[in-house]
Amino acid sequence: AGRDPESSPAVVELSDVTFGYTSAPVVEDISLRIDAGEYVAVVGPNGSGKSTLMKLMLGLLHPDEGAASLFGESSRRFDDGARIGYVAQHASAAKEMPITVREVVKMGRFPHVGFGRLSAADWAIVDDALETVGMTAFADRRVTQLSGGQRQRAFIARALASEADLLVLDEPTVGVDVESVEAFYDLLASLNDDGITVLLIEHDLGAVTEHAERVVCLNREIYFDGPTAEFVESDALGRAFGTAASFLGGSR
Ligand code: ADP
Repeated sequence: AGRDPESSPAVVELSDVTFGYTSAPVVEDISLRIDAGEYVAVVGPNGSGKSTLMKLMLGLLHPDEGAASLFGESSRRFDDGARIGYVAQHASAAKEMPITVREVVKMGRFPHVGFGRLSAADWAIVDDALETVGMTAFADRRVTQLSGGQRQRAFIARALASEADLLVLDEPTVGVDVESVEAFYDLLASLNDDGITVLLIEHDLGAVTEHAERVVCLNREIYFDGPTAEFVESDALGRAFGTAASFLGGSR
């Protein structure tokens, strides 16, 4: 946090963005700005374009129309990937990775040291990151031997080691044991308190309403973008989800 001494540009900014894999747009006319220190959740039904929007925000896809920027730079030119920590769903790739937690976190230093050796200072950053996420005791354990929650914390530690100031999480607690979910969100909240911007793609609306400060509700277009408390009171969810909203126990 606080790594940008300049008056900060938006962390993410989309202006009138339209994108489709074919000629049909999957997201349409999206404008939004995420500032440093925010905690934003993107919600929407399956197939509503959440993953696509995330890829556009991270510069992994580029708009057909409109413009996307990251940290004030066009997403087409942005190349400082160390500033973005990505935590995939259940970090499922880790199932095949026979490496230890410390090795995962060490990878977070690679953008800073190339593939050269880590200095003592780099290792101190790795150790700090392990400590912050409460994984010091598991540092030498293989990620394949961790619980879902532990694995996700290891991947957060990798982001901390890379000194990311934006943390992007794609349904991070799917498949994570119930007892660990709360601790996981507590960790996210404390990182956000320390100034890290959190962007959460989330299906679990309980988690969203409990933790995020701001909700972007998507279904091809933006149905709602504003404070979580207002989202809860609005009818955006019902409009975006259609009949599926009834599973929330509310017929608004
Ligand atoms: P969500 O993350 O909300 O489930 P996605 O962004 O994954 O939504 O998908 C939005 C729409 O785009 C869906 O109709 C999906 O089938 C389509 N889509 C996603 N990825 C691709 C792709 N690589 N090629 C073609 N269509 C895609």
